[in-house]
Amino acid sequence: MPASVGGPRVLLRRLREVMAKPETAQKRLDEIVVLIASNMVAEVCSVYLKRSTTDLELFATEGLKPTAVHHTRLRVGEGLVGDIAAHARPLNLADAQSHPAFAYRPETGEEIYKSLMGVPILRSGRVMGVLVVQNRTKRHYTEEEVEALQTVAMVLAEVVAAAGLLDAPSELEEEEAKPFYLQGSSFAEGIALGHAVLHEPRVHVTKLIAEDTDAERERLERAVYALRGSIDDMLQTEDLSHAGEHREVLQTYRMFANDRGWLQRMSEAVNTGLTAEAAVERVQNDTRARLQRAADPYLRDRLHDFDDLANRLLRQLTGVTLSSVSEDLPVDAIVIARNMGPAELLDYDKDRLRGLVLEEGAPNAHVSIVARALGIPTVGRADEALDHVESGEAIIVDGDTGEIYIRPTQEVISSYSEKARFRAKRQEQYQAIRHEPAISQDQQRISLFVNAGLQVDLPHVAESGAEGIGLFRTELQFMIAAALPSLGDQVELYSAVLDHVGDMPVVFRTLDIGGDKMLPYMNLAQLKEENPALGWRAIRISLDRPALLRHQLRALLTAAAGRELRLMFPMVAEVAEYQRARALVDKELARLDKFGKERPSKIEVGTMLEVPALIWQLDALLPLVDFVSIGSNDLLQFLFASDRGNPRVATRYDLLSPAVLSFFRHVVDKCAEYETPVTLCGEMSGRPLEAMALVGLGFRRISMSPAAIGPVKLMVRSLDVGKLETFMEGLMKLPDGSVRPQLKAYAEAEGISV
Ligand code: PEP
Ligand code: MG
Repeated sequence: MPASVGGPRVLLRRLREVMAKPETAQKRLDEIVVLIASNMVAEVCSVYLKRSTTDLELFATEGLKPTAVHHTRLRVGEGLVGDIAAHARPLNLADAQSHPAFAYRPETGEEIYKSLMGVPILRSGRVMGVLVVQNRTKRHYTEEEVEALQTVAMVLAEVVAAAGLLDAPSELEEEEAKPFYLQGSSFAEGIALGHAVLHEPRVHVTKLIAEDTDAERERLERAVYALRGSIDDMLQTEDLSHAGEHREVLQTYRMFANDRGWLQRMSEAVNTGLTAEAAVERVQNDTRARLQRAADPYLRDRLHDFDDLANRLLRQLTGVTLSSVSEDLPVDAIVIARNMGPAELLDYDKDRLRGLVLEEGAPNAHVSIVARALGIPTVGRADEALDHVESGEAIIVDGDTGEIYIRPTQEVISSYSEKARFRAKRQEQYQAIRHEPAISQDQQRISLFVNAGLQVDLPHVAESGAEGIGLFRTELQFMIAAALPSLGDQVELYSAVLDHVGDMPVVFRTLDIGGDKMLPYMNLAQLKEENPALGWRAIRISLDRPALLRHQLRALLTAAAGRELRLMFPMVAEVAEYQRARALVDKELARLDKFGKERPSKIEVGTMLEVPALIWQLDALLPLVDFVSIGSNDLLQFLFASDRGNPRVATRYDLLSPAVLSFFRHVVDKCAEYETPVTLCGEMSGRPLEAMALVGLGFRRISMSPAAIGPVKLMVRSLDVGKLETFMEGLMKLPDGSVRPQLKAYAEAEGISV
């Protein structure tokens, strides 16, 4: 039985000599096949390369007819070679001709060869071609021989990738350069044209053959050790501010990183003569092939985790860092990531960051909230985006529609440039009225406020031309922190907010956690609820854990010493809950007095109206509060019994319906009766048509995202409120599910900017 001569180490050394010679790539390839054939004691050694995504071409051979080179073509999936390319896995057959996939090519003269061993030529996980050896006899190739051939194939991949092998650009390259379109979900509005930056740059291993195997083994061990340490650190500190990963993913990483088999396989690959980096890649190629074939979908899903882990190890070995710390970020960077944490996004230079694409993520995830606060157009759930884009490629992100154009055509670029110009013009219009009040044609003044929650939001308050902050979501600070913010941390943020807005009012909402807003360090996640939106959240947690709320109230009172303080409670369902929360404010005020500390110059306490039950207790509630604020996002999901986070039903019912309008009308009338100021601070107030309807119902205070202030102010200034009020009277009793068409038609006829 023939055996390979000298093993892969000798072969790799010879390959290095061939690669060092100043020759054309074709010549190199011709020499390499001879070398492999003799080392493996095979009569045939051939290299097939992918010419396009569907075709393979014989590029070099020892043993087959030389005239077949550059003539024999196979489709991916056709014959044994095509099968190897299609599935990116080796084949090892003592009797190849009896295999059902065998396809005979007479021009090659291969009919006399019985056995075949072939492996894919892979580079960074992509199939570039196939490397095959054949023998006349029914030879059984050993597992070691298959592995040796895989190692050689990796080196070949570098030869192929090096410039010069394919004189003209191959069809494959052309195909890869074709425009690619992807539909994701809109996470943050806006349009961005720019160049792709991979958040975690892919490491291309170029130095494959080791000079000193012992040194490489040591490097590998050191890198694996450091990798394990960094994962343990992340898990221990649970520094979620710097980890987009969930705890579960980190735990999976830890399990893989500590897997003895993994390290052993990489060490063995180093023993064959590869560098540490090449060994990581070589083993990852195997893992990838194995997991892709796994029947269990859970295992297939883990491939992503394993790829990430291998890439982390490669970064450890090569010193390549995350793009956010790179000095040469393009001026129009569009960052592409599998997922990330909010702090990682904040690490990017804001002046250069134009857009964000996430393969995973959720619209209410912290990173999306920060992206919206920064005004960065973001598309999420863009499945496989990373498979289709290389760093530096042109890319357009449409945060309004959730569309992504990779390598866009000239027409798409022109159309989007036009769109961007149009938006810029509108922006100018908004800027022009920034310092003007929102006063309607018939002299009704509408107060427009912004919703905020992070320090990065603060500059937008003045920029937008708002009258203050109508809703400050204090939970955001808690959500992006690594651990429960201390009293000092809270005081610092609240003081910064009050300093920043000066004389303008700010309404702080106390902690609204639970539901979809989890604090990982509080172990709320363990509390698996059937219906989290209806579960233990917001004021319910605060009343059950009063220390948390009292701490926060103390921070608010301290920050507001000598100035005005407005605060309100989320998700109150009955008057008694408001009273209990209000009593805690009084307790904290008494505490201030006891320690001789300064009180706020004025304090107003109110509540959110987010639970329908509270709307039917307004006669009891309103005399007790200084103001109320409608949280329409929650209120309407409860009113329609339709989950705001479930895409199937979230938009099923129209907010512009007789039911909602008359419900709101009831609130407005009651508040007028008790002379209690009422604001609406849900998402709907930021949409001009919805905002118009709210004004028509009698709302005079609405709070929205900063970007919406301009469009809504333009709407107000083109509106005759009295006329609209009369028109809307007729809508309330209609049987229609939606009165949007009527409102739209009205706005158009009246020339209202919506
Ligand atoms: C709301 O429910 O409308 C609201 C403003 O609160 P949040 O969106 O933070 O739940
Ligand atoms: Mg709410």
